[in-house]
Amino acid sequence: MANQTPIIETRRLQMFPHLDDHDFARLRRFGEVRTFPDGTAIMTAGEVAPGLAFVLKGKIDVRQGGAASQRQTIVQHGPGSFLGELAQLSDRPALVDATAEGDVQAIVVPGRRLRDVLVQEAELGERIMRALILRRVGLLEAGQTGPILIGPFGTSDMLRLENFLTRNGHPHRSLDSGSDGCAQTLLKQFSVQPEHLPIVLCPGGEILRNPSESELARCIGLLRSIDPDVIYDAAIVGAGPAGLAAAVYAASEGLSTLVLDCRSFGGQAGASSRIENYLGFPTGISGLALMARAYNQAQKFGAEIAIPDEAKLLAADGPGDARFHLKLGNGETVRARSVVLASGARYRRLDIPNLSDFEGTCVHYWASAVETRLCAGQDVALTGAGNSAGQAVVFLAGKVKKLWMVVRGKNLEATMSQYLVDRIRALPNVEVVTRTEICGFEGNEGSLQKVRLRNRDTGEEEACEIGHVFSFIGADPNTDWLADSGITLDEKGFVITGADNGHLLATNREGVFAVGDVRCGSVKRVAAAVGEGSTVVSAIHAYLAGRRAAQDQKAAAE
Ligand SMILES: Cc1cc2nc3c(=O)[nH]c(=O)nc-3n(C[C@H](O)[C@H](O)[C@H](O)COP(=O)(O)OP(=O)(O)OC[C@H]3O[C@@H](n4cnc5c(N)ncnc54)[C@H](O)[C@@H]3O)c2cc1C
Repeated sequence: MANQTPIIETRRLQMFPHLDDHDFARLRRFGEVRTFPDGTAIMTAGEVAPGLAFVLKGKIDVRQGGAASQRQTIVQHGPGSFLGELAQLSDRPALVDATAEGDVQAIVVPGRRLRDVLVQEAELGERIMRALILRRVGLLEAGQTGPILIGPFGTSDMLRLENFLTRNGHPHRSLDSGSDGCAQTLLKQFSVQPEHLPIVLCPGGEILRNPSESELARCIGLLRSIDPDVIYDAAIVGAGPAGLAAAVYAASEGLSTLVLDCRSFGGQAGASSRIENYLGFPTGISGLALMARAYNQAQKFGAEIAIPDEAKLLAADGPGDARFHLKLGNGETVRARSVVLASGARYRRLDIPNLSDFEGTCVHYWASAVETRLCAGQDVALTGAGNSAGQAVVFLAGKVKKLWMVVRGKNLEATMSQYLVDRIRALPNVEVVTRTEICGFEGNEGSLQKVRLRNRDTGEEEACEIGHVFSFIGADPNTDWLADSGITLDEKGFVITGADNGHLLATNREGVFAVGDVRCGSVKRVAAAVGEGSTVVSAIHAYLAGRRAAQDQKAAAE
């Protein structure tokens, strides 16, 4: 049985480490000593905090929760301890409230300098970083902080917003407007009409009515405006494994780096319930956990990450140093000296006329806790025969009553790793139906009642009572947005790179590189994407050095 003990109990010592005088002496050069009189709000949920506060004297009470009367103390920091959480690493709004209990004296280290601590003081930085990550995990686990989502459970907009926050590792609470008394009181209090659901109550006090992901992200401080005056050394499109690896190496090697992603960090890998073949994780790791580490690591080195921000157009040959302009979906522009295309691939959709009626409610492209809450104990179908399908089957089988695995081919072996085939065979509630495809959906108002299956040999059709379908039938490259960029694509839309362009990962446009699944000929695996993302940085250095030398030569000649 899974361990139900909260992380705050199992990992308390690492979550709240005690730093000694020697540690404090090392920290002094990164911050300033400040005094907070008794009762001062040192940190307020929804507002950007001054930084991490390393306590010299006094106590800081840290609380989570909604109305003042219901707030619970998470911890009290005394001398030797420190106040802060991952949000302070990137100067994002705090998730908790913290108040001085008695007069407090602390070394306050702002976000920018915190990143210097983590890099320059490796051993101390490791203890601090581990504590910040564990504190975020604790907040996610407790589910008492962050925005409150209120709406009917299982509806597409509610799922859309829940998925966005879950996949971006942001704590939140979801209340069912149909059954939760507290939700109904709040809806009455704010006079919310049913057509405006779901609503989001943001920690800063704002109420959003059925917001887009971008509106929600801006409201909770996840997404900020791009500074039009900054010219980034590297603009990376896509925060999957390839983009995040490029960001970690680029930022750690001193390049000013911006990563954009239109959905969430982690890309396809973030959708994997368990990655078992990534080197160094013998017991496997969930894709989201692996990618969250990479996301935090990139921020530790100072990479800026903008989610959700979609690149819509790449224009090259801008004036002077800002050679590349990326136009974003929200009208903003990113200026950069080099660009890394890491936009990966997106799931393929089933060719069924009324598919869109059920997407977002009953047809799913991810198998995570959000989806399993909807179909626990029911019969479900899953179509696909690759490793991603296999992982999803193994994950879902433990939660659903029966899983029909619908496979077009003769067997699984041709397309799936043997370890997954063996595991699926051992699952008593999974039935693999080969030479079969899904050919129709029956239901109404977004609620699926029957799934039609067709035998590919006999043409025979059968309607099965199934309310949820998981689709893992492969992916196409995310390159539509490159249509007018002059970047050469192959007949399937993948970006062509190669040594003819000066480097294996270089595209036909000098200064634009492509890594990971979006690249023609790449191996569609996490390790390959990470390898390419880290390799591309040396090519960027060489390209930027060449540009600088050419500019110097030109200046000297003038
Ligand atoms: C469910 C599942 C399970 C898998 N399991 C494994 C496994 O166990 N082992 C393994 O090795 N591989 C596995 N894979 C494959 C692996 O995840 C991919 O090969 C890898 O994620 C590719 O990384 P990437 O960074 O190149 O692209 P992606 O992961 O596709 O990331 C691309 C990112 O770019 C963003 N993006 C796209 N267009 C734009 C735009 N215009 N503007 C801004 N952002 C954009 C997307 O939102 C996305 O986040 C799995 C894949 C899936 C779907």
